[in-house]
Amino acid sequence: MIITNDLQRATLLEAGRRLASVLAALSVKVAPGVTTAELDDLAERLIRDGGDRPAFLGYTPEGALRPYPATLCVSVNDEIVHGIPNEDAKTLAEGDIVGLDLGLIHDGIIVDSAVTVAVGKTDERAQKLMRATREALTAGIAAATPGGRVGDIGAAIQEVIEKAGFSVVKPLGGHGVGDRVHEEPFVPNFGRRGTGEELVPGMVLALEPISSEGRAGVVLAPDGYTYRTKDGSRSAHYEHTILIDEHGSIVATGR
Ligand code: MG
Ligand code: MG
Repeated sequence: MIITNDLQRATLLEAGRRLASVLAALSVKVAPGVTTAELDDLAERLIRDGGDRPAFLGYTPEGALRPYPATLCVSVNDEIVHGIPNEDAKTLAEGDIVGLDLGLIHDGIIVDSAVTVAVGKTDERAQKLMRATREALTAGIAAATPGGRVGDIGAAIQEVIEKAGFSVVKPLGGHGVGDRVHEEPFVPNFGRRGTGEELVPGMVLALEPISSEGRAGVVLAPDGYTYRTKDGSRSAHYEHTILIDEHGSIVATGR
């Protein structure tokens, strides 16, 4: 969406604060022995207790054969994104890395954010993967300025992930958000500076670097949602909803 007035802007930022607080509460809950279904239940309860609605539950993305059946996406280890937490729920184990991806609707505005969290203590390589992907998101946000291009964001994200020795998972990426869960423009996590759609003040984007330890190939599971790495290597994912303003960008879902 394009924000055109102060009320919309305030609503977006409030939506972002609410999502950040739910995601923080979920992150704290992640521990060995906790199931993905428990995290999903908690996500839905916290969102509804705040008077808001889950954005992913019942949403059918383009090309999907059925609506998404949960509030939260939980993607463990080699699962990249869109892991379904409440069908064949998994029990988290020490050392796993788990992506939590959540959307909510507050006063009609949709925000989208994700973090990857270690279950207990994980190994150094997983920590490095998570750190690089988090830093890629920071670099992407810094590159998102009015008058810039979508390709500036992708180039910044790609550089950080590849410099750390990891791969960008290419078919998946960021997107416009606000009125719907997925809007134009698509924001790839790779690209060339100075190319792609122009970034304009008021634009609301979800930036979401997605990386893997190994090669970038993906496989879609028979459930129609869960993406896995083809080579079984682990994947990390961080996401913020941002607003392009006159000077740079504001992170709506910042914590
Ligand atoms: Mg998301
Ligand atoms: Mg997203």
